Amino acid sequence: MRLILNQDWRGAMVRRMLLLIAGCLLLGFITGEYGWAMAAGLALHLGWTLSQLLRLHKWLLEHRPDEPPPDGYGLWGEVFDSIYHLQRRNQKARGRLQAVIDRVQESTAALKDAVVMLDSQGNLEWWNRAAETLLGLKTPQDSGQPITNLVRNPRFKDYFERGQYADALEIPSPLNDRLRLQVYVTRYGNQEHLLLVRDVTRLHQLEQMRKDFVANVSHELRTPLTVISGYLETLLDNVEEVNPRWQRALQQMQQQSTRMQALLNDLLLLARLEATDYPSDNQPVAVHRLLQVVVHDAQALSAGQHRIELDADPLLCLKGSEGELRSAFSNLVFNAVKYTPAGGEIRICWRTDEDGAQLLVEDTGIGIEAKHLPRLTERFYRVDSSRASTTGGTGLGLAIVKHVLLRHRGQLRVVSEVGRGSIFSCHFASAQVVPDRH
Ligand code: ADP
Repeated sequence: MRLILNQDWRGAMVRRMLLLIAGCLLLGFITGEYGWAMAAGLALHLGWTLSQLLRLHKWLLEHRPDEPPPDGYGLWGEVFDSIYHLQRRNQKARGRLQAVIDRVQESTAALKDAVVMLDSQGNLEWWNRAAETLLGLKTPQDSGQPITNLVRNPRFKDYFERGQYADALEIPSPLNDRLRLQVYVTRYGNQEHLLLVRDVTRLHQLEQMRKDFVANVSHELRTPLTVISGYLETLLDNVEEVNPRWQRALQQMQQQSTRMQALLNDLLLLARLEATDYPSDNQPVAVHRLLQVVVHDAQALSAGQHRIELDADPLLCLKGSEGELRSAFSNLVFNAVKYTPAGGEIRICWRTDEDGAQLLVEDTGIGIEAKHLPRLTERFYRVDSSRASTTGGTGLGLAIVKHVLLRHRGQLRVVSEVGRGSIFSCHFASAQVVPDRH
């Protein structure tokens, strides 16, 4: 059809041109002025072409989407039609794309989770309805605003600006403190951000119940245990009067009640660490002095069976809670003593590194198989459970270390080789490190 039309307008054009030339020649023959007759013919053709061009220009400027093009003759008619068809095709493609976008928007609008699209600067571009109920975003006035201005939570700001989105973040909703939200950020395209926010209030409540339960049980068990160990001590002091045959049994009972007390203390400490995200103290802690105390206690534990070396930078302090840091560092150093046979060496080093500061606890002990390393910081995880009763550990030491480090923006790394020893290192961000001013 198109081909026939094409051939048609070509023939008509040639015929019209021939007719025009013939007319000019006839006029030239009549007047004897062939030159002027040709010029008049060309001027006529130029004038007609210009008028068609002006019609096209007017139509392009003024026409409504569905208005057909003006009738044109020959080549011009063809140009009008082609432009019209091109526009129709574009309109259809745009319509199809719009339908896809509408469907995506409708389905995300129906989601219970909030979906927010941000540009590379973190400004709001688009969000679904759930984002309004969970985050309190308002359409359309919040469009183009930085997300950190609308979700005014210091932890969210910190998390968003740090740009490390491997783990999700849990924060209270800016609209309602009782709602807990889990935020995932993904980068896509040209450094734009996609924010997914889930309501995890129920999960959070269950988790809170678990924590409260452990903390309450530990607390409630402490008093009866204190009474029992008190009586055991009295009985042991007067064992000769009571019955000397009971001495061994009483001693074992006392040993086990001391272990239970250590366990309860560690459980309570963990519950306290879990209750808040940051330590309440944020004072510079003189780590070298703290380590001297820890080494002193470790020497008492070792009873002279190990060589313990300390190399600490006296000018390097760490912001945080002294009590928490002491618990973490002493767990690492005591573990080194517990898991290093007599005659071994333990080296403790506190120094700056390229990221901030690091504490190294190095021993020449029994080492740990590589397969256990990822699970070491789990509660009650033990490499060798048969040894647990002899070392007197609670199985919570490294879980406490991990929590304390998290609260001090630190990271625990472990390198170990069976039979040769282990290196436990704590790495702290430079923001946590301050020089000692004393
Ligand atoms: P525990 O109270 O049993 O020491 P931890 O949480 O402190 O519990 O440690 C978990 C496990 O990691 C220990 O049971 C032990 O097997 C292993 N471990 C910890 N520190 C060392 C070390 N320095 N050398 C070898 N093994 C270690």
